[in-house]
Amino acid sequence: MNKTENNMDNSSLIDNWQQVSKQIHQTSDLAGRQVDSVVLLAVSKTKPADMISALAQKGQRHFGENYLQEALEKINTLKSQPEGEGIVWHYIGSIQRNKTRDIAESFDWVQTVERDIIAKRLNDQRPTELPPLNVLIQLNIDNEQSKSGCLPEQLLELVTTIKAYERLQLRGLMIIPAKSDTGAFARTKQLFEEVKEKHPELNGWDTLSMGMSGDMTEAIANGSTMVRVGTGIFGARA
Ligand SMILES: *Cc1c(COP(=O)(O)O)cnc(C)c1O
Repeated sequence: MNKTENNMDNSSLIDNWQQVSKQIHQTSDLAGRQVDSVVLLAVSKTKPADMISALAQKGQRHFGENYLQEALEKINTLKSQPEGEGIVWHYIGSIQRNKTRDIAESFDWVQTVERDIIAKRLNDQRPTELPPLNVLIQLNIDNEQSKSGCLPEQLLELVTTIKAYERLQLRGLMIIPAKSDTGAFARTKQLFEEVKEKHPELNGWDTLSMGMSGDMTEAIANGSTMVRVGTGIFGARA
């Protein structure tokens, strides 16, 4: 087994995962929401396949990866194990134009679509034998110059464009808010509802991916349906 020094043993890993799951349930309950209304995405970037395998054995289904080459290797490894069978893979890293084919062929979800050129390539390259690729639009909710994501004022146009792509299933929004922006979750929830109202035909529009290890409680209180937790489960990254 290939265990590097910065990685904890599997019993601490499973303890952490159970703690995080419990916290999600309690927070959802306190917010008056169904305990199963929030999906836990385990963000496994930089962590080895055997840690993913250990959590998958316990029933964790959704895993998120940022670095394509590393992710493809893990997806391949897990494919040959029985634990890997039910895993749903989410790509949550930035997308370079020449990497869309690998993403379209190997992932179930992409959470970081921010412009049409990328959406169109993913649509064209999604293999026909696979179901449509689930897509979230990454929103630059703080209007920060340096940050990736679709600007709020361009959201409706991008929704209309992606909606027409048959090999993509548009599911909702994803944000990584600035730490200082305390209103980001509520504003994103509002935009999410606005799209839903304007596009009642968008059947799959059901996912609001917001909240990470440090702020998942606030995100859930504000309507998040998917939290992306790395450090809180796997420990610090090297
Ligand atoms: C790394 C990462 C996470 C997880 O962050 P933690 O603070 O370790 O929980 C969530 N979302 C995205 C997009 C990330 O890149």
